[in-house]
Amino acid sequence: MKGLMMDTQLLISSIAQHAEKFHGDREIVSVTADNPRHRYTFREAIGRAKKLANALERLGVKQGDRVASLAWNDYRHLEIYYGVSGSGYVCHTINPRLFPEQIVFIINHAEDRFICVDVMFVPLLEAVADKIPNVEGFIILTDEAHMPETSLPNVMCYETLLAAESSEFDWPELDERSASALCYTSGTTGNPKGVLYDHRSTILHAYATLSIDVAGVSSRDVAMPVVPFFHVNAWGVPYSALMAGTKLVLPGPKMGDGEALYELIESEDVTKAFGVPTVWLSLLQYTEKTGKRLEKLEQSLVGGAAVPRAMIEVFRDKHGVELRQGWGMTETSPIGTVNTIKAGLEDLSKDEQLDLATKAGRGIFGCELRIVDDNGGELPWDGEAFGALQVRGPWVCSDYFKLEGSGGTHTDDGWFETGDVATIDPQGYVAITDRTKDVIKSGGEWISSIELENTAMGHPAVAEAAVIGVAHPKWTERPLLVVVRSEGEDVSKEEMLAYFDGKVATWWVPSDVVFVDELPHTATGKVKKIELRKQFAEYRLPG
Ligand code: ADP
Repeated sequence: MKGLMMDTQLLISSIAQHAEKFHGDREIVSVTADNPRHRYTFREAIGRAKKLANALERLGVKQGDRVASLAWNDYRHLEIYYGVSGSGYVCHTINPRLFPEQIVFIINHAEDRFICVDVMFVPLLEAVADKIPNVEGFIILTDEAHMPETSLPNVMCYETLLAAESSEFDWPELDERSASALCYTSGTTGNPKGVLYDHRSTILHAYATLSIDVAGVSSRDVAMPVVPFFHVNAWGVPYSALMAGTKLVLPGPKMGDGEALYELIESEDVTKAFGVPTVWLSLLQYTEKTGKRLEKLEQSLVGGAAVPRAMIEVFRDKHGVELRQGWGMTETSPIGTVNTIKAGLEDLSKDEQLDLATKAGRGIFGCELRIVDDNGGELPWDGEAFGALQVRGPWVCSDYFKLEGSGGTHTDDGWFETGDVATIDPQGYVAITDRTKDVIKSGGEWISSIELENTAMGHPAVAEAAVIGVAHPKWTERPLLVVVRSEGEDVSKEEMLAYFDGKVATWWVPSDVVFVDELPHTATGKVKKIELRKQFAEYRLPG
């Protein structure tokens, strides 16, 4: 027997309608290249998103067509999110930090018809314009006064385009399974792969992030996504904030600028922030240098890479900020796990709480998890057994765009292979120990590079650390620690190795330490292990 409930479609346009009606006066504050502090309301944002929708219709864009963005987090980018997806087009967010060849690949692969581009990324497109002949036009995200000289063909000015349109627009009634957004994974090997979100997955994911043990933003919060809009839809914040009526603070091109982030947080009363560990590193460096304290911030959701214990500690003890670690991937929309204390664990000592906080967190409702051995057999949740992490749920991808059926990423029983190796403890907390391809196998046993990196980063003289496996005649592989020293700090190899005493098993202690000026990073700010392994391909362990 079927239930008797309405079959209302879950659509991104319904967030726009809700935001306009219930939170119309809520503010969106942005930093842009043409304005250091732009501010307006949700109502104005949605009005302009409708103007964009009218403009795109006039340009002949049809349902399902891809319209791309190449832009920082600001109000115009937010209008693109709603104007494009709300109209039934697919918003393809391009990561400007990808290599030019990758950008060419994804624009052509996505068959983008139009690209909305920030002024500062215009040169990036000019350099590849002859390789993307099918793009029909470039919409530059500024006003006439700030339009750049450009060799790009078919250029339009965003503000001029909008000025000609009405802010009346009837959002189309779409099927909730219609594609809404497209985001390519960086692809450390091979070509980037497109993850194609739909309206339903986006809404369900946004709902999930609103729960208190996930990100829990409310209408009284002020949220600052420092995670880019081009990185897995800024973890859904552009949707959840408008659902909840949360004031948005968008840092534009100031993402990696500790001082600018501090000023925005303090002056705009930001209570909840979102970002990868490296951006918080720059904020902490600024507060350390100036002796300033974060007075307003309550919580930050941090993920995309392991969060160092020392960072969680400084935020907690010096600033009274809860750093909540999360785990996810482009393929999982992205949130799969979030770390908050569970009932029964409140009495853990401060130190034990920190240990727990270094884990990736518990699975949230809507994302099922399991770990399996090499034969696909399920492993116990004992906090010890390492295995390949697999996930399943309504906001996990079922395939990649235009690669449908080519396989290799999903199991026969419908789980997605994350490519991560993890343990899960009896309480359900997941600890990511490695990417499958980064695991260090020593004497037939696995050593977690992430745990060693985390330990090393607890040393005050260490700014950044990475561990890779290097060849060893007896043990097959041994861990090599590569360290970037903090500015003005010194630490010797012997001191560094001694620092591991009592913190990890003796056979896990790295076999050598190398100091470097910087580590190679991926487009999303993670250490590029492949590059690092290449760099140390000729390296031989001492003795
Ligand atoms: P990309 O593939 O472009 O780097 P993703 O954001 O999809 O971008 O990367 C997802 C990967 O990031 C995960 O598979 C995992 O390896 C890593 N990751 C994400 N969150 C964490 C975390 N909390 N701890 C350790 N690794 C993480």
